[in-house]
Parts: sequence; structure tokens; C-alpha cells
Amino acid sequence: MQFVDLTKQYQKLKKEIDDKIQTVLNHAKFISGPEVGELEEKLADYTGVKHCITCGNGTDALQLALMAYGIKAGDAVFVPTFTFYATAETVSMCGATPVFVDVDRNTFNIAPDDLEHAIEWAVDNKMNPRAVIPVDLFGLPYDYKSITDLAVKHNLLVIEDGAQGFGGSIDGKKACSLGDISTTSFFPTKPLGCFGDGGAVFTNEDKISDYIKSLRVHGKGTDKYDNIRTGMNSRLDAIQAAVLLVKLEAFRSYELASRNQIAGWYNEQLRNSVRIPILPENCISSFAQYSILLESEEKRDRAQSALRGHGIDSMVYYKKSLHQQTVYRNNPSIYRGFPNAETISKTVISLPMHPYLTKEETMRCTEIIRNVLNV
Ligand SMILES: *Cc1c(COP(=O)(O)O)cnc(C)c1O
Repeated sequence: MQFVDLTKQYQKLKKEIDDKIQTVLNHAKFISGPEVGELEEKLADYTGVKHCITCGNGTDALQLALMAYGIKAGDAVFVPTFTFYATAETVSMCGATPVFVDVDRNTFNIAPDDLEHAIEWAVDNKMNPRAVIPVDLFGLPYDYKSITDLAVKHNLLVIEDGAQGFGGSIDGKKACSLGDISTTSFFPTKPLGCFGDGGAVFTNEDKISDYIKSLRVHGKGTDKYDNIRTGMNSRLDAIQAAVLLVKLEAFRSYELASRNQIAGWYNEQLRNSVRIPILPENCISSFAQYSILLESEEKRDRAQSALRGHGIDSMVYYKKSLHQQTVYRNNPSIYRGFPNAETISKTVISLPMHPYLTKEETMRCTEIIRNVLNV
């Protein structure tokens, strides 16, 4: 059993996807073809944000957001330590310093009380706090109310890393609309994925949108061959946009609901055996991952090898938090421990999750886990 079965999805959507790709092959506008603009409008509409600017991948999307606000050397940017490396990597790429923050033990998202602690520490150490990057980890929107309050209080920009969050919502607000600026990824295994790399930035600010549109094409001016700033080459190509136009329809009409139904089956089957995902009030997750906690590292590892023994793929996101990565061995903010992140990385495991998983498949998985735990 595959962790994310993309071939099942393709079989279901094959006719529409093939036709849409063929349209691109016929008009041959591979970069900035009409599909790109159409997709950007649909994504803006879906998330309720004024502008969507697509780009090469979710990492570039973060980079473009940081560049648009001039984040630079000497700035401190607060990042949860329990996330994918790109969340902090892009901060480092700008020359700024990622300051790590522990996560909440229930939601696995950035912990507001620890963020406040980290901000005070940064100020005491004469750093220049500029921004915070909350992540919608495993598809669960972050606690935007508490984070926004803290950001306002300390004059921080909020950059939502919605790479895993697309489709989720909180208080009726969609993921990718929660930050001052938000980003997502269309990596194939994300909730909304294309057939390669892709990403997007979301903003309500006209000026920031124009600026990012320039940055993604080498810092172009109104004349494409007059470059007015240092930018990047980071565009979503028309074939990927074509794929996403088809997949977005499937995503909004049934795939998101299906992910939640599957999570519900898992919950029912595992409720009495493991720590199932905890969703705060008024929250819908896109279930980028279905991640549970076991009692110990030893049990987690045993569960994983038992699943593997039965041909079922599972993953451990993340075995190492960012403060434990070699690249950050000299980061000034790792003088302290991050107990919640450390406990979670030892006991977490993510089970197969994609919209085409059957109830029988979830049962095969959960029976194996329950058997391991009863030994
Ligand atoms: C996947 C991911 C990214 C990076 O997206 P890419 O499209 O792979 O560059 C950034 N942040 C988080 C939290 C992610 O999961």
C-alpha cells in the first residue's frame, strides 16, 4: 500500500488531464500560457485572497514573500522548529537568522506562548525581530488569532507557510489567507499537487503582488528586458497549470471531503489505541498527513516495521526538528531545548493518506498497529 497513490488519482482524472495538457501542447505557450492566469484567478477565488502569484515551487514562494518585504541580514524571523527545512532555509537564504520556536503538543503547530518567549529573547539579545512564519502542519491551519495578536503587539510580519495547508480552514477562513502574505506548494504529494514542482504566493496587497510578479521574472520592469531589481527565475509552467486546473476541480468537489472521511475512519479505528490528531474548534484540516502519536519511540519504530512487513508504507515527519539539523549547529536560538518538538519526533508516525484510499485499506493498517501495541 502506497503512502500517497498518485496513479489512482491519475486513472480517475486521466481523460480531462490528458485533454488539458494536449491544449498546451497545441498552443505551445509553455511559459506564462493562458492556463497560468486562469489558475491564479481560480486559486485567488478559492482562498478568498485578492492576488495569487504562482511560481516554481513552495520554497521559492517563501523566498519571494521574504524578498517582497525586504527581509535581510540582521533580521530575526521566528520559525517553528518542527517543520520541513524550507521554512527556515529561505530565511537563511535571505541572510536573516531563523529563531526557532517550539510547537504545541496537541496541534504540532507553532506555540504562541513559546513564540512570545522567543521574541523576548531576541529583543534581549539585540536582534531585529521582523517576521514569523507559522506553518499549517500536516494540513491543520495554525492558531491565527493568537499569532496575529502577538504579531501586532511586536510589529511582526506574518508569513503563512501553507505548503501543506491548502484546502484547510479555520473560522470559515481558508488556509493561504491567514497571514499578511501566504504561500503554498504544488509538489505532487501535497494536498493539491501537480506533475512536477509548483508553488504560489497569496496577498491582498496590490503593490506586493506587482513586486512579486517582477521578482519571479528576473526583477523585470514594465519592459521585460529592462531589469530594475535582482529577482529570480521562478514561474509555474503552463502544463503544470493545466494539470492543476483539473485537479483543483476534483479537490474542491470531492477530494478534500474524501481526505476528511478517511481521517474519520482512521480516528474511529485508532481512538482507543493511540493519540489521534486533535483539531481545535472550527478547524477543517486538509490532512496533508494523517499523523498519530504512539507511547514511545520503541513502539513507533515497531509499528513502522510491522507495517513495512505487510507492504504498507508509512513515514516519520520529522525525525529531526530544525534545531537538530547540522546546518543550524551554530544557530544562536538553539541554546535551549524544544521539548514538545523532541517528544513528537520520537513518537509520531504518518499513515497512508490520499483521497482514493478505501476503508478496507485503512483497516488493514490500523489492525497491524493495534496488534503491535497489544504485544
Ligand atoms: C513541501 C514544503 C515546502 C516546500 O515546498 P516545495 O514545493 O517542495 O519547494 C515548504 N514548507 C513546508 C512546510 C512544506 O511541507
